[in-house]
Amino acid sequence: MLPSGPGTPIVKILFASESEKAQTWLPLLRQALPHDEIVEVPDKSVEIALVATPPAGTFQELGRPKLVQSLWMGVEKLVTDPMYPRGVPLARLVDPGMVAAMSETVLAHVLDWHRHLYQYRAHQRRREWRRIEQRMASDRTVGLLGLGELGAGAARRLLALGFNVAGWSRRPKDLPGVRCFTELSAMLEITDALVCLLPLTRETAGVLNARSFAAMRPGGCVINVARGAHLVARDLLGALDSGRLAHAYLDVLDPEPLPAGAALWAHPGITLTPHIAALTEPRTAVPRVAENVERVRRGETPANLVDFQAGY
Ligand code: NAP
Repeated sequence: MLPSGPGTPIVKILFASESEKAQTWLPLLRQALPHDEIVEVPDKSVEIALVATPPAGTFQELGRPKLVQSLWMGVEKLVTDPMYPRGVPLARLVDPGMVAAMSETVLAHVLDWHRHLYQYRAHQRRREWRRIEQRMASDRTVGLLGLGELGAGAARRLLALGFNVAGWSRRPKDLPGVRCFTELSAMLEITDALVCLLPLTRETAGVLNARSFAAMRPGGCVINVARGAHLVARDLLGALDSGRLAHAYLDVLDPEPLPAGAALWAHPGITLTPHIAALTEPRTAVPRVAENVERVRRGETPANLVDFQAGY
């Protein structure tokens, strides 16, 4: 990548986010793009808008930027935002730090279930000294919903630990060591641990439902680290109460924050975390953002453009 410098055109860049901290991002952005103009107030001359939950009214203040660059990997809110400037390309962030964090979270939950740690924590609360029969990783199949950046990253780590790995995607895939499916039911019937790493679209909303849980091998777990609306909460409670599923790990909820009275908080079969499975890591994200700025400067197509038709 050719860095910007004297003589190269200056790009006017907007940083607009209610969720990402400007005091963390701006110094890193200014270091990576020292000759560009980085502003926090939108106006008609902005050429690239860097956004994650932008303040209300941001898009109305913009003219026609050359690119909207998301600072998150999931872009469903931008894709469905009626104020989004139609026809302006949207790039999502593919952040290596975030991919690594997600793989760690998936491994942590799969191992918690596989090694029965959630059960031993319950035994400890009852002062109960009791062993559960051990299984080998090769006895288990982890089924990944989504084989994109995050799904493929998690697959590599799971394979390295000796798990059987299967995955479901919209288009056919060929990933080393992974049994790849485009038909969901075919993957579910061999799945013990089901991990959701799908974008939220009209097609994927509610995919974690009673039908899916009934199609899995019994005694498994569900790990939702994608979006809360992928899960039908009532169906999950039913599958846990019937013993069909052993445990669920929910990082994303609908709505967020989860209301204090929600049944999911208190269910002994559920481990909840507050949408922290993978946070954007500005140190590894800024070089990717800067690369897209350079592409725009050179008049090239930005990386990781969103397909509005597909919704991700
Ligand atoms: P990605 O690279 O776009 O991959 C998405 C995968 O889902 C692709 O394999 C895609 O299939 C598949 N897919 C999409 N629609 C499908 C459908 N209708 N049927 C079957 N497969 C479908 O996305 P990513 O970067 O891996 O991120 C996935 C999601 O994770 C994000 O959208 C975001 O919501 C979530 N996320 C959560 C956190 C957190 O902290 N909890 C952090 C980051 C991201 P194709 O390969 O055929 O396109």
